[in-house]
Amino acid sequence: MSAVQNVLVVGGGLAGAGVAVRLARAGVAVDLVEVKPDVHALGSGITLQGNALRELDGLGVWEAARERGYAFDVTGFRAPDPVGTELFAVPDARTGGPDYPAVMGMSRPELAQLLHDRAAEVGVKLRYATTTTDLAQDADGVDVTFSDGSSGRYDLVVGADGVRSWTRRMLGIELETRSTGMGIWRSFGPRPASVTRTDLYYGGPCYIAGYCPTGEDSLYAYLVEDAQDRSTLGPEEQLATMRELSQAYHGPWDEIRETLTDPSKVNYTWFETHVLPAPWNRGRVVLIGDAAHTCPPTIAQGGAQALEDAAVLGQLLVERDALDADLWDAFHDRRVERARTVVEASNQLAQWQLDHVQGDIPSLMRTVAQLVSQPA
Ligand SMILES: Cc1cc2nc3c(=O)[nH]c(=O)nc-3n(C[C@H](O)[C@H](O)[C@H](O)COP(=O)(O)OP(=O)(O)OC[C@H]3O[C@@H](n4cnc5c(N)ncnc54)[C@H](O)[C@@H]3O)c2cc1C
Repeated sequence: MSAVQNVLVVGGGLAGAGVAVRLARAGVAVDLVEVKPDVHALGSGITLQGNALRELDGLGVWEAARERGYAFDVTGFRAPDPVGTELFAVPDARTGGPDYPAVMGMSRPELAQLLHDRAAEVGVKLRYATTTTDLAQDADGVDVTFSDGSSGRYDLVVGADGVRSWTRRMLGIELETRSTGMGIWRSFGPRPASVTRTDLYYGGPCYIAGYCPTGEDSLYAYLVEDAQDRSTLGPEEQLATMRELSQAYHGPWDEIRETLTDPSKVNYTWFETHVLPAPWNRGRVVLIGDAAHTCPPTIAQGGAQALEDAAVLGQLLVERDALDADLWDAFHDRRVERARTVVEASNQLAQWQLDHVQGDIPSLMRTVAQLVSQPA
């Protein structure tokens, strides 16, 4: 028998959808509430490392994801010069093992759709445009009220509601989320034939200019700058700013720039970070994914770490027969230091760029790759 019989998951991102699938598949009754109205509201493109792909396989969506995404095994480095000179290309570590490509780009809404379809297939009750308004727990369960006025009682509540987690605040957990000092422009658009992998350009007006193919017909492109208040810019001004910053980058960027015409496909956000020390649970409520740890996407591991949290929590809840201190100890032993190492390495990479310091990037990347190559 599993440690829990019915669970509420708050948030339908990678962490929430992941844990919901794992539990429902094992016969646990799972409700998932997502504040957004549908999965299509869930972002633009994402770079998935091998260890994330291994977790997608564990959820039963790898084959479908592979058909939609764009896989590659090498990252290129180009100069911010008038022709975008290719400097060198580095094989990416296959952190998911030999059965998966090193990296795959994918549209976030498509990935969310796959995971939500899988969740529905295994019996998760998905409720969109719904959130929680109150939580009260006792020794045997958690009473929850929802924004539509309904209520429920659960053996466990999983707060997978992202960096500004409502669940975390409801638990009274003080956690400082700080800006790392960088902001990122992102656009989503068509893939020029010349883009078959991620290329990174360091220097020029931005810290990093890059792109990642997300499917046969799509890619996302990004420019990382000093964090600044861009909130006063309207959509057309945002588009113009991204186009202007991109003028320094050439090669495939010349073609990408031509496609930067739709303001609704451009987005600006700051890089933020936090790590919650153990424990991540308070009684029968637990935080996973960005709610517990978040990092700048300098190693593109946030999504993988969210999926790994989901996998480990799901596995323990299904295999153990009691929601007790042993279960939580095992969960924290397997997750907290691993996630912290990834966050700190991601922050270090960002800091070296901010300080214009030539840090030992290969060594840092090797350490993270070795760590995440081990199954979570
Ligand atoms: C600019 C940027 C680029 C990134 N690029 C990458 C990348 O390329 N690769 C990578 O692996 N990672 C990347 N990341 C990190 C990655 O996006 C996150 O680590 C990952 O999405 C975390 O998943 P999550 O499920 O924990 O949280 P989220 O994806 O934030 O999902 C949380 C969900 O909860 C919902 N929600 C919030 N509040 C409530 C509520 N009160 N009630 C109900 N629902 C709620 C939200 O709508 C959302 O759907 C990037 C992050 C940023 C900021």
